[in-house]
Amino acid sequence: MKNTEYDLVIIGAGPAGLSAAIYAARARLSVAVLEEAAPGGQILVTDLIENYPGFAEGISGAELMMKISEQAQRFEAEIITEEVTGLDLSGPVKTVQLAGNQVSARAVIIATGASPRKLGIPGENRYYGQGISTCATCDAPFFKDAVVAAVGGGDTAVQESLFLTRFVRKVYLIHRRDQLRATRILQERAFENDKIEILWDSRPTAIKGGDAGVEAVSVENVKTGEQTDLAVSGCFIWVGVTPNTAFLNGIVDLDENGFIKADKRMQTSEPGVYAVGDVRDTPLRQVVTAVGDGAIAATEAANYIESK
Ligand code: NAP
Repeated sequence: MKNTEYDLVIIGAGPAGLSAAIYAARARLSVAVLEEAAPGGQILVTDLIENYPGFAEGISGAELMMKISEQAQRFEAEIITEEVTGLDLSGPVKTVQLAGNQVSARAVIIATGASPRKLGIPGENRYYGQGISTCATCDAPFFKDAVVAAVGGGDTAVQESLFLTRFVRKVYLIHRRDQLRATRILQERAFENDKIEILWDSRPTAIKGGDAGVEAVSVENVKTGEQTDLAVSGCFIWVGVTPNTAFLNGIVDLDENGFIKADKRMQTSEPGVYAVGDVRDTPLRQVVTAVGDGAIAATEAANYIESK
């Protein structure tokens, strides 16, 4: 099997991974960034990022990631589009298996991010992609003038529901408590938007439909026990994220929610292996914190390699 050697391998080309690539390449390490899909990560589908400094009018996730990706490649970080099929991160030389070959490095940064969490209710798997979505930017145009449901009370649910209102007639925002978790400015916008009706203290119990897709979401009021069927043609699920760590098979220590434990230097339980961005047990999951993680990990990886 062909083996290509680098100083540093970064797994994942979202904001954290690509930021690490920029810093590592500028430290004159040879760097490979492994990415199974297009570079960008979760932020790729965000219509407008308003809280990343330097873009006073905001910037789309796709445009920001294109710029960051170009920047990483300008400093000669190599982006390899392939899925990781196996890993050996113990010892001084780390190897990462890809479909037909492998790469090896003296340090590895894990930047694999997180994926939308599922509700685990009847109908969810059946109608996924047939009325159920986790991506407003991708799917909102399919729901022009329709009535849809959105589930969750965090930044994603509120920001994406606001985006949906540009297309749909109405959004029922279903939240399990009597207070939103989202940032205040997003809450204010939701409260002011006539197209958003918030169903407080409510949780979806099933998603129903026919051959053509979603027709209703069954909702239970958690305080009164009252059950209602909302007639909707779409349901967007934004109830948080789960870390993409399954491929690690317990190689590094995880916290109780499955996020990778790392110290303030982004060092995991395995020497020479770092974790950055949404996959890490971090108190804030934002592009601005992800790129900070990447910068720290790359600098630490360079020091680690130098010390060996
Ligand atoms: P989140 O902050 O974890 O919020 C998840 C929401 O879903 C919470 O309101 C939670 O309810 C609800 N929820 C969780 N499990 C549920 C279930 N089984 N049934 C019903 N509701 C459930 O996740 P997120 O909104 O996806 O955000 C993820 C991270 O990205 C956060 O750090 C967020 O700040 C960041 N983000 C930031 C922006 C921005 O800055 N504009 C935009 C998007 C995302 P409870 O409130 O009751 O726990």
